[in-house]
Amino acid sequence: MDFSEYSIETLRSRLSNGEARARFVVESSLDSAEKLNETLNAFLQIDRAGALARADEIDSSKNLRNAPLAGVPVAIKDNICVRGLQASCGSRILGPYHPPYSATAIERLQKAGAVIIGKTNCDEFAMGSSNENSAFGAVKNPWDTARVPGGSSGGSAAAVAAGIVPAALGSETGGSVRQPASLCGIVGFKPTYGRISRYGLVAFASSLDQIGIFGRKVSDIASVLGIVAGRDTHDATTADVPVPDYVGELAGDIKGARIGFPRELFGEGLDDEVRAAVLKTIEAYRELGAEIVEVELPHAKYCIAVYYIIATAEASSNLARYDGVRYGFRAEEAKDLKHMYRATRDEGFGAEVKRRIMLGTYVLSSGYYDAYYRKAQQVRTLIKHDFLRAFETCDAVLTPTTPTTAFLIGEKTDDPLAMYLNDIYTCTANLAGIPGINVPCALSSEGLPIGFQLLGAHWSEPTLFRLADAYERAHPFEARPRVHVASASE
Ligand code: GLN
Repeated sequence: MDFSEYSIETLRSRLSNGEARARFVVESSLDSAEKLNETLNAFLQIDRAGALARADEIDSSKNLRNAPLAGVPVAIKDNICVRGLQASCGSRILGPYHPPYSATAIERLQKAGAVIIGKTNCDEFAMGSSNENSAFGAVKNPWDTARVPGGSSGGSAAAVAAGIVPAALGSETGGSVRQPASLCGIVGFKPTYGRISRYGLVAFASSLDQIGIFGRKVSDIASVLGIVAGRDTHDATTADVPVPDYVGELAGDIKGARIGFPRELFGEGLDDEVRAAVLKTIEAYRELGAEIVEVELPHAKYCIAVYYIIATAEASSNLARYDGVRYGFRAEEAKDLKHMYRATRDEGFGAEVKRRIMLGTYVLSSGYYDAYYRKAQQVRTLIKHDFLRAFETCDAVLTPTTPTTAFLIGEKTDDPLAMYLNDIYTCTANLAGIPGINVPCALSSEGLPIGFQLLGAHWSEPTLFRLADAYERAHPFEARPRVHVASASE
């Protein structure tokens, strides 16, 4: 039996009616992970022993067997703590680090019966848009292994796209779930800030960071969110907002829904094929009975500048803790304490992380703080107000997710600015704290996936899922990448 095309719901029904055992499902997922990792480099650690032991536990316990995600294999980005496994964040500085506790999202997943098969590759400390910044080598895009999967959660995206797991966790600071989801042809979701606990997610830029979810179907994202969302006393920024039944609210009919169309985001810099494909999805919504309303987001064009000031400022502060004393790696040949700090950070961090620490330190330094950091915070508020105004007239704003399809490995590594422009459609949501979802919608003439994005008001996840699910039902994205479990086992 091949599970690689199954939704969580189908998988769960096969498991609960006894057609398959958790051990069998988890073992096939582990086999594919190991086999495809030679090509994709999507996993940094595969936990065969732990995952099989957990699967057996599920098979032998009646209580556990009925849990909502019992026996469902999942993959976790390597910047989210799982007790017993590594958390390298794609960095040499954390290399051998094993956290002594699990993230709240992980505890909730495990309690629901999900089985973690491994930790996925990512850009170092989640800084990047291509996965080329991982200290452990780039992840390859399953659609074309000469191309990037996107970043920074590229390993999780590739694992889902290749059919290894039906769902995976990643993290979002400026688009790191939606952007790789778009380049890999899967669904990727970033929640409202405060919806999922950040406890156990290694901090990059705390006011922007959120754990996000990858899946092949919108309903799978909805079911995982229902498990991991909600208030957590370990993270004071989680909100005490009730967690609705996200799956139950997928009604199908979206007649009368209002889709916001920000015309100015479809101009310069957007690839022609991507533009055409995304404009077609607007027509598709019209046919589904939605009303299309034009909206304006006049400050969205400043988002990259604002994002790279705020994100680097917060990163420079968050990354001060890697000093060779508290975690992982320590440089060996140091003559005194100061030299040890310096050598550890010099050898332990990669070039992009160093660039960001320097940028962030600069924008926070006295004399520049007002000109850069404070100004960026002010513009951040304007961007948020743009969205709040737009949501007075529409239920969700529709945009491209990325300006182009997957680019070649090495194509943008020498040009950080070109790389940063990948987040132009995604980082607004992190700045505003609103949820967003990427839905695959087409293949380019080169056979590469194209996605569109829906952005909603704070806590509007049920609406976003309903809209995304309605599109998916009417226009299922059935193409599969070249590197895929199904083709590997043929
Ligand atoms: N690509 C963006 C960056 O490099 C976003 C990363 C992220 O969302 N973690 O910062």
